[in-house]
Amino acid sequence: MSEKADIRSYTYDELCHLITDMGQKPFRAAQIFEWLHGRSAVDISDMTNLSKELRSRLSQEYVIAGLKPVKKLVSGIDGTRKYLHALNDGNIIETVLLRYDYGNSICISSQVGCRMGCRFCASTTGGLVRNLTAGEMAGQVYSVEADIGEKISHVVVMGSGEPLDNYDNFTRFVDIITDPRGKGLSGRNITASTCGIVPRIRELADRKYSFTLALSLHAVSDEKRKEIMPVASSYPLEQVLDACRYYFDMTGRRITLEYSLIEGFNDTKEDGERLAVIASGLKAHVNLIPVNPIEERKYRATGLQGIAQIKNILEKNRINVTIRREMGRDINGACGQLRRSFITGEENA
Ligand code: SAH
Repeated sequence: MSEKADIRSYTYDELCHLITDMGQKPFRAAQIFEWLHGRSAVDISDMTNLSKELRSRLSQEYVIAGLKPVKKLVSGIDGTRKYLHALNDGNIIETVLLRYDYGNSICISSQVGCRMGCRFCASTTGGLVRNLTAGEMAGQVYSVEADIGEKISHVVVMGSGEPLDNYDNFTRFVDIITDPRGKGLSGRNITASTCGIVPRIRELADRKYSFTLALSLHAVSDEKRKEIMPVASSYPLEQVLDACRYYFDMTGRRITLEYSLIEGFNDTKEDGERLAVIASGLKAHVNLIPVNPIEERKYRATGLQGIAQIKNILEKNRINVTIRREMGRDINGACGQLRRSFITGEENA
């Protein structure tokens, strides 16, 4: 593995310092930042408006950490594309492109694996391998843009990993990708999902980030939540919801509550009613997700009637609710399952 630093992980200001420390004019930093985040350069030698000498000096100390697409599956139904990217150290991560009427949306990973241990999630079964750098998060966006020859307008941080367990790199990623001198993505077009790490939610609020925060709720009592989400033992629901309220108050951004429906576990009428109370209190939007069964566990998704019942209860209470559509049904591998089957050797198509 290369010892050189990943130049794509620096914010604009950091890049300015780095460049002026090399005795260069600050406008060089603007050029480099634009190459990295506006023009998706994959190699320092591509930066043709820099002198050869500067390019070679930069190359001695820095790299653009590579992401190599090692597998790509394209859905014949809805154009969804699932990618496995190999990182410089050989680790594999999953990235998904979703095509909507309003534009191209990408679901990126924030860590290799995850240590949160949610019982229904395939990304956590092998534990946390390592954090992704900001450059590796941004690189997923640029790699897919290069593959489709189109721009990506929306980013959701809902792939493998817990972004708030990789807080510094994640916030650095948001700072970089929203910087108008590079990709310039609107914060409003970014959604990040968390299992509920309270102090970090508060910190994001204090820093007034403007992206949409999605909370993985999945159960309406602490008792139940603890059964499927170990993080619930550290942060009781009351504290998590308080932090979400604080995020909304500070940023004006409505929270999304994610609720994975597991048959016979969290899908009764009472669950729906309690969910409506929680969502009303937060003025939150609810996203219902029929659970994707994973091999390691025997959870099954709530049936259509059960889903409709919860949806109706929420709608009666004037809650804005959506049911997550399953995209790319024919290319399988929801929520980290493609990566999992690849690294365990089952994926040999
Ligand atoms: N660590 C973040 C991002 C995880 S993935 C978080 O916990 O929010 C994004 C969403 O997919 C989360 O709500 C997660 O709980 C959910 N998810 C993971 N595995 C799932 C599965 N098998 N079925 C349905 N939803 C799942």
